[in-house]
Formats: sequence, C-alpha cells, structure tokens
Amino acid sequence: MSATHRDALRAGLFYFVLAAVWLRVSDHLLNNFFDDSSDLARWQLINGYLLATVSAGLIFLARVRLYRFLGMGAQLRERRADRERLRQAAAVFDCTREGVLVTNHQGLIVHVNRAFIEITGYQRDEVIGQQPSLFKSGHHPPEFYQAMFATLAADREWSGEIWNRRKTGEIYPQWQTIRVIHDDAGRLSHYVAVFSDISAIKNSETELKHLAHHDPLTDLPNRLLFSDRAEQALASAQVHKRGCALLMLDLDHFKMINDSLGHSVGDRLLKAVATRLQDLFGLGITLARLGGDEFAVLAESCPQPAQAAALAQRILDALKAQILVDGHELFINASIGISLFPDDALSAEQLLRNADAALFKAKTSGRNGYALYTEELTAHARQRVEIAFELRRALEQQELRVYYQPVHDLQTRRVTGVEALVRWQHPQRGLVSPAQFIPVAERTGLIADIDAWMMQQACRQMCQWQRDGVVLSFVAVNVSSRLFARRELYQHVAQVLNDTGLDPAYLELEVTESAVMDDPDVALEQMHRLRELGVRLAIDDFGTGYSSLLRLKRLPVQKLKIDQGFVAGLPGDEDDAAIIQVIIALARSMGMQVHAEGIEQVDQAAFLLEQGCDLGQGYWFGRPVPAQDIEWMRAPVIG
Ligand code: C2E
Ligand code: MG
Ligand code: MG
Repeated sequence: MSATHRDALRAGLFYFVLAAVWLRVSDHLLNNFFDDSSDLARWQLINGYLLATVSAGLIFLARVRLYRFLGMGAQLRERRADRERLRQAAAVFDCTREGVLVTNHQGLIVHVNRAFIEITGYQRDEVIGQQPSLFKSGHHPPEFYQAMFATLAADREWSGEIWNRRKTGEIYPQWQTIRVIHDDAGRLSHYVAVFSDISAIKNSETELKHLAHHDPLTDLPNRLLFSDRAEQALASAQVHKRGCALLMLDLDHFKMINDSLGHSVGDRLLKAVATRLQDLFGLGITLARLGGDEFAVLAESCPQPAQAAALAQRILDALKAQILVDGHELFINASIGISLFPDDALSAEQLLRNADAALFKAKTSGRNGYALYTEELTAHARQRVEIAFELRRALEQQELRVYYQPVHDLQTRRVTGVEALVRWQHPQRGLVSPAQFIPVAERTGLIADIDAWMMQQACRQMCQWQRDGVVLSFVAVNVSSRLFARRELYQHVAQVLNDTGLDPAYLELEVTESAVMDDPDVALEQMHRLRELGVRLAIDDFGTGYSSLLRLKRLPVQKLKIDQGFVAGLPGDEDDAAIIQVIIALARSMGMQVHAEGIEQVDQAAFLLEQGCDLGQGYWFGRPVPAQDIEWMRAPVIG
C-alpha cells in the first residue's frame, strides 16, 4: 500500500470515529439532560442543524481530500509513466549498437553508453570530463572540423564520415550524427553524438573493389586494372619523356594440359606461372592476368626495343624450368608480343592491340619466342639480346682480341704511340667490330669487365714492347663513359699498373668528351685522382660533345683527339677546316697536344700538319691490327 492510500484510509477512519463520537455525545445528552419535550424538540433541532453542518463539513473535507487524492494519483501515474519512459530510454541508450556520447555546453563529455565503450575501448571514467578531441585520429585537416562546427551552428545537426582513434591507437571510420541540444531558454546545453563503426563496411567495400579489379585465381590485376594502370603509366611517361613497353604473354599449348590433366591442375599451373613471373619483376613492372592463359606485363621505363626484348627473354627463361603441380612435372613455354610506347602506339588500348598482333606473330613463327610489333625491331632487338647473351660467353672463352692502331707524330712521321681497340673473334660471325657490341656491353654492365681486360692486356703488351726495344711514348686505352665516373676506375687503374709494372707515364686513358661534360664536377675530381697516379689523359671524339671552354681549361688533360667526323671533310670542306683550326688553336692555348683521328688521305694529313696538329691516326697510316702485325718502321711521306 502506498503512502497516499494510507493517508486516505487514515482520513476516512478519523471522520468515521468523529461521527461515531458525535452520535454518542448526542445520545448521552438526549438521555441525561432533557426532561421537557420542548427543550428536547429545540435540542433536536439544534442537533439536526449541527449534524447537518458537521456532515456537510465532513463531506466537504472528505471531498477535498478525495480530490486531492485523485489529483495525486494522476500525478503519480504521470510520474510513474515518466520513470518508465526514462527506464526504457536508458535501456535503449545502453542496448543500442551505436555509440552515444553526450557533452555539455563546454564540450566536456558527460555521458557515454555501453556501445561507446565497446567501440572505442575506453572505460566510462576514462572519458567523462574529457573533450572528444581525445579521439582525434589526425586523419582530417583542421578545415574538416571547422566545416563540421559551421554546419552544427547553422543547422544544429551534422552527419558524415569521420575517422577517429580507438584506445589501442587504431584509426577507424565512423558514421556520425551530432545534434545540438538547447534548453527551454534557447541556450546551448548539450551536444549528442551518435555514431557507428563502419570499418567493416569499408573493409567489404575495399574487398569488393579488390574483387572487381583482380583475377580471383592468381590475385593479379585483371584487364580492367591493368588498362587503368597502363593509361596512368603512359601519361606519366609522356610527361617525363620516357619509353614504356607492353608485353602480352600466352602460354603455349596450355589447352593440352587442361584437357589431359584436368582444370584444377590447369588452375594450379596458372597460379604457379603467376608466382614465378611476379618473383621476376621489381618495381615499375606490372603483371596482370588478362584471362585464360594470357598475361600482360607493363614495363614503365623501357626506352629501347632491345630492353623490351631482353625482358621478354628473361620471362621465357624463367618459365623454362619445370613446374611441379600435384606431382606432375610440367614444362611450359610461352610466346610474347611486344608493343612500345610511344613508337608503336600512344594509348593503352592500342598498345594492347599491337601487342596482341605481335603475339600472334610470335605464335605463328614457331612459339616459345617473342616478337615486336614492328618487324625490323624484332630482328634488331633479337640480335642485341643474342649479343648480350653471347658476350658473356665471349669473355669467359677468351674470344675478345686487342687490336692496336698506330699513332704517328706528324712532324717526324714516326709511330709514337698506339691505341688499343677491342675486337670480338666470334666463332660464327667472324671479327665483330666494337660498334656492334660496346653499346650492348654498356647496357648490360659487361663493359666493366671488357675495359678492365683491355687495360690489362694493353699494359702487359706495352711492357713487352719496351722489353723488345720498341720506343713508344704511350699506349692508349678507351674508358667507357659508363665507368668514367665510378670510384672503382681509379682503384682498377692502380691495380693494373701494379700488376703489370708499367710506368704510369706510358698509359693514356681516352675519355669521350660527352662523358666528361655529362657531370663535369665528378669528372674533374676523377681526373685529378687519375693524374695523381701519373697516367696521361686524353679527350676522345673532341668536337662532338658541346664542351664548355671554361670547364675544359680546368681539366688536367694532356691531349685533345679531334673527332674523325671533322677530318673526313678535309681539306675541301671549309667548315670542317675552320673547326679544326679553332680546335688546334684552343689546344695550343691550353698547352694540350692535338691528335687527329680518321686520317684516310695524304692531303688530310698534310693539311693537319700545316695547321700545327701534333699527332695523326687513321687508315692512311695504318689500320688497327694485332700487336705482332704493326709495321714500326713505316714513316710515310706527308706532302
Ligand atoms: P674511338 O676510340 O674513337 O676509336 C677510333 C675508331 O676509329 C676505331 O674504330 C678505329 O678503327 C676507327 N678508325 C681509325 N682510323 C680510321 C679511319 O681512317 N677511318 C675510319 N672510318 N675509321 C677509322 P673501332 O675500333 O671500330 O672502335 C669504335 C669505337 O669503339 C671507338 O672509337 C671507341 O669509342 C670504342 N671502343 C673500341 N675499343 C674499345 C674498348 O676497349 N673499350 C671501350 N670502352 N670502347 C672501345
Ligand atoms: Mg679512342
Ligand atoms: Mg675517337
């Protein structure tokens, strides 16, 4: 029984007792004090009035209490309903899967629910009284929060994706709605933020995106993503003036494996091929599976057809080794079609089409090979790849030879030095000129071994000549521009001199003008170091490399070798003649010797002598020959 009920019962009982006492008192008076009937009648009247008045009073009081009681009951019901509503709200607040955070008008957290604790990892007492900036992830710039508060001020509500940080430090995305609460006076009282953790949705979005762009079997990019990446790569290549190569690869006779061993073996073979190819490539190369047994490769920096051909050869070589699938030892070959940007096509779509056409060409010309989209390129690139392959063998099997070309003093007409020039005695192709293999050697890095070997041979030979009494003032060797800037060059030269015992003053290193001018500061440092060893330095092919005269003056160089291109036009070509005169004057002013190469006619030699050129080299004096064939005594008459 509630207190109100008890009050009402007590009041009823009181009135009942009061009425009973009154009746009892009336009855007593009636019996003991009235003997006269008129007194009795008066008393009865008074009593009747009194009874009526008291009854009316009692009824009035009872009614007042009843009304009060009824009113209190209503209030009570309302309060009970309110309490129920609050209880329900608290249950909802606590059971909801969305996190709820309430701050006061100062922005301090006053309330959080259970989901909040689960999502953020913070306990209630760790956040109450704190600012929500506690959860900031650093993912958004300040402008993001400024825009959010501007929307809250204008619309009283903001919804959007926001990245926050859990207690563990993990950053995760939320979908959040923030509402501004005002009190009755219209003053800001609270902010209520309701949010859900959408990292799962995001993950599945990413997963969906991944599925849409990747091949489910190999997890490689599919055609869609490949085309996309190719377009991006081409755009970047265009800006940076780079060449790209697109290779399309198709496994040979894959259908046979599928038909004979079943699709699951076929699938596993495709996966193994994908892994093997992926292991082969580094950064800047994208591998994709276009479908079936067709793969595509995009090399983002591949300026030369020969480089693309070399990449194709690497792929073919990598696939050569057997692949073990379910106990089956499988051997698989492939054919590759190559298309180049920008030579063959400018768009990814056209490159793919061209590569496809080239692939068809590769398939029809015997499979297990590659073909470039352009016919001539195929032959040329193949030759270069072959050369690179064979050159390695050439070094190991000592197929390289040193030829020496005499250099004559134009005044005395005597041989004063020799230039060592490399030759390749190829078992099938005969004597191969350096013009054919030096560029390949430079690209494959073999040039270091070739030049090292040449220097060793030349120094050894020079020592031999000195022992034989041949008087020469130098033996010149060419140093590739690829090696010139490297520190190892200095160490290597020192090593060779030490090994052979040649006096450094007899060794001349020829460096091309372009190698020097590519990075003049490095060249200057390197040249000073080499000079410290005591060797001579010459600039080869001078006149072709846009030398800066100022820089040239600072170089510790003893000789300029005029490029044969200027000698060829002599003496008729006025321009060539003028250039040669200038070079000779320049060399003189800087205290350098002048050496003209490519002299094929006597009047060229005569002109050069007349202009004051010191040294001459060319077919007219003598061709490059093996050491034993040099005619030391030959002193042709000039003019
Ligand atoms: P280079 O150093 O300017 O050598 C001179 C080239 O001109 C040689 O060609 C030589 O045979 C050729 N030559 C000489 N006299 C005449 C002539 O009267 N007429 C014509 N038309 N040509 C003449 P080679 O031996 O074919 O070498 C070509 C280039 O290959 C060399 O040019 C040099 O840059 C490079 N080279 C040769 N041997 C080596 C080497 O051992 N290492 C390096 N890094 N490069 C080398
Ligand atoms: Mg040379
Ligand atoms: Mg030269």
